[in-house]
Amino acid sequence: MMMKGLVSHPNGDLTLSEVPVPKIGKNVYTPRDVLLEVRYCGVCGSDIHRWKADKTGVKFPPRKVVSGHEIVGVVREVGPKVTRVKPGDRVVCEIVTFYCGHCPACREGRYNICNTLSPMEGRAHFMTGGGFAKYTVWPEQQLHKLPDSVGDLEGVLMEPTAGSVHSIITRMGVKAGQSVAILGPGARGILMMQVCRAIGAGPIYVSGLDRDVPVRLPMAKMLGADEVINVEKQDLRARIGKLTKGVGVDVVLENTGSVEPIDESLDIVRKGGKVLWAGGGIRGGIIAPVDTYKIIVKEIDVIGEISQVPYDWHTAIFLAATHRVHLKPLVTHQYGLDRWEEAFDLAATSNECLRVAIRP
Ligand SMILES: [Zn+2]
Ligand SMILES: [Zn+2]
Repeated sequence: MMMKGLVSHPNGDLTLSEVPVPKIGKNVYTPRDVLLEVRYCGVCGSDIHRWKADKTGVKFPPRKVVSGHEIVGVVREVGPKVTRVKPGDRVVCEIVTFYCGHCPACREGRYNICNTLSPMEGRAHFMTGGGFAKYTVWPEQQLHKLPDSVGDLEGVLMEPTAGSVHSIITRMGVKAGQSVAILGPGARGILMMQVCRAIGAGPIYVSGLDRDVPVRLPMAKMLGADEVINVEKQDLRARIGKLTKGVGVDVVLENTGSVEPIDESLDIVRKGGKVLWAGGGIRGGIIAPVDTYKIIVKEIDVIGEISQVPYDWHTAIFLAATHRVHLKPLVTHQYGLDRWEEAFDLAATSNECLRVAIRP
C-alpha cells in the first residue's frame, strides 16, 4: 500500500511523493512497533529552514525520509510485544528513538545527546519517518497517551512543550521567584514563558520586534508575561536595567536566532545569572561575536539545549493536562497535506502565525 508523504531529501529538497505505508513487524522497532494514523503534525521552525531561502548551515537527513515530528496520532495496530498502548489510543511521540545506551551521556539518561549517534541518526523523523504522511510507525517506548483534556489539534505542541520543559527545568534549573527575560516571542518563546509561569518564576519579560506587535507580543502578555518589550522602539538593555534596578535578570532565554541578542543577553543577565542560547539551533546555529570578559567577570552560566529527555515529557504532559500551559491559542492555522507549500510559506513569513498544523 502506498500513501502521500512529504519527503525530505539529503540535498535539501522537499517533495510530496508516493511512499509505502509502514508495516507492523517489518521495521526496526519490531516487535515493539506501533502503527499510528496521524491526526495532525505541526510545522516546526526546523522544517521551514530545511525548505527554502537560505539553507547555509542547515543540516539535512542522511537519506530520503518522510519529515514532520510534532505528531498527534491514533494507534491503529501494535506489534506482539506492545503492552502500554492499544488500537484507538491517542498518542504523542518522543522524537529521540535511537541512542547507543552505553556512552557517558546515555548512562546519565541524556539520550538526546548520545555521544555515539549524531542528532540526525537519533531522531525517528530523520531515520524511519515522521508525521507528514497518513501513517507512521513508532516504538512503544517513545509514545505517550495524550490526556483527554488536550485536543488533537493543540496536541501538536506537546513536542515543543517537552522541549521547553527541557530548556527551563532540566537544563536551566529555573526556580520560583526568579526573574526571566525571553528574547523572541515565537511559539517556542511563548511556550517557554508559560513553563516559567507554571513553575512560579517571575517577573517574566518577553521581547520582540515591530512585526511581533500585532499578534505575538499581545499573545505573550495574554498568556502571562508581565511586560512585553518591542526592541525596535525601546532599548532592551535600558529597559531591563530599569525594571531590575540595574541588577539584571536572573535568567535570559535567547530564542531569536539573531546575532545581536547574543551580546544583549550577556548584558541584561545579573552577575551569577544563567543564559540559554537556543535561537538558531534549528538551522545549524549562528556565528556571533562573544565578549568572554562579560562571562568571566559576571560568572555567567551559558547553557545549550537540544530536544528532550524522557522525563521532560512526563512534566510537559502534566502541565498541558492541567492547563498550566495553554496550547490551543498557539495553533493558529491548519492545512491539508496537499497544501503543504502554502502552510510552509505562511509559517515562514506570516506575523500572525504561531503554529501551523498539517492534516495528512
Ligand atoms: Zn520542533
Ligand atoms: Zn549513547
